Amino acid sequence: MYKRNPYVMVPGPTPVARSIQDAMGRETVSFHDPRLVAEFKALIDDLTTLWRCDGIAFVVAGSGTMAMEMGIVNIASDEDRVLVCSNGYFGDRYIDICSRRGFKMDTIRAKWGETVTADEIDRRLSEDRFDVLVLTHVETSTGVEFPLRDLTRMMRDKHPEVLIAVDGVASMGGVEFYMDWGVDVMLTCSQKCFGISPGLGILWAGRRAIEKRRGMPPLNASYVDFEKWIPVMKDTVKYWGTPAVNLIWALSESVRIIKEEGLENRFKRHRHYAKAIRGSLSAMGFAPCCASELASPTVTVGLYPDGSGIDDAAFRGAVYDEGAHIAGCFGDFAGKGFRVGHMGNIEPNILVSAVAAIERAAIRCGHKIEPGVGLAALQRTLLEG
Ligand SMILES: *Cc1c(COP(=O)(O)O)cnc(C)c1O
Repeated sequence: MYKRNPYVMVPGPTPVARSIQDAMGRETVSFHDPRLVAEFKALIDDLTTLWRCDGIAFVVAGSGTMAMEMGIVNIASDEDRVLVCSNGYFGDRYIDICSRRGFKMDTIRAKWGETVTADEIDRRLSEDRFDVLVLTHVETSTGVEFPLRDLTRMMRDKHPEVLIAVDGVASMGGVEFYMDWGVDVMLTCSQKCFGISPGLGILWAGRRAIEKRRGMPPLNASYVDFEKWIPVMKDTVKYWGTPAVNLIWALSESVRIIKEEGLENRFKRHRHYAKAIRGSLSAMGFAPCCASELASPTVTVGLYPDGSGIDDAAFRGAVYDEGAHIAGCFGDFAGKGFRVGHMGNIEPNILVSAVAAIERAAIRCGHKIEPGVGLAALQRTLLEG
């Protein structure tokens, strides 16, 4: 039997649209080719304008973790005090990055499946002096969305002097956000909501972040130094590290798709699909791991019902055999559930196929549900759109 590749429904990489694959497959040219230089320049301008950034966007080869590192080292010096919030695996990764850099750091942690709140942050910032606040917009290990709009309003009112860096790897391009909310550094990478193969870090640095870096002593790092990359992003014929030519074409095509859809429509679509996926998982008996008001538009955890007897590895293997690749949980939820990514350039038929695969796999693994319950719930929500 002919078998297509399973749908990539993990929280990154995400399905790559045909036109983006074609862009990656173009014949590689020199980064001094005037056509590449012009396209790169237009891309940086688009990224800066679309997300209303009063500084500059950076596109640098590397993964999301590189972008996390680049994001913090340019706005925090050894003298600075950094407050890092974590409610899961990637928040903990930011704590690790900051502690290895030797920043004077403090942390606020929330349980997996919950979130640190704007009130808690306000309290901590009122007790002590901090220079930089770090948080994760969507914590991919739990599918929890941080209430970023509330936070930025509070910070503007009460702690305007504190710089804010946000890990937006699992949110940018899918979840409402603009730099003029008052975030100083936002970052993501190519393989999540932008729907490209892995390999690019993408950062937005506001005017304050760029000024902060300019006033800092030389950085004890070079590849991730804003000062090295700013001249390139302003004038894309310049050189610092070889740009990932084919991924830049791919990102240009991804941004073209985003502009065609419209950012606001894209944000709405992600919320709508997320609601449809949550409804279908819950109809199949898989419980969410967080309160619905915290549920991310981009990734959803489904917990196995108590006593279902479903074996995690066997179940996810069965879903793979049925044609969809979903992810396991880790940390507090290891073995207790699975994660479905629903971000980027996807459409209802992909969701239908993924839910159908999950449903067949669950039944094959002995889970007692009627065929079609998950699909029916999914279709009902999709029809609301
Ligand atoms: C995927 C992810 C990362 C890490 O990105 P890599 O490309 O794997 O380095 C960091 N933060 C969040 C929130 C993520 O979802």
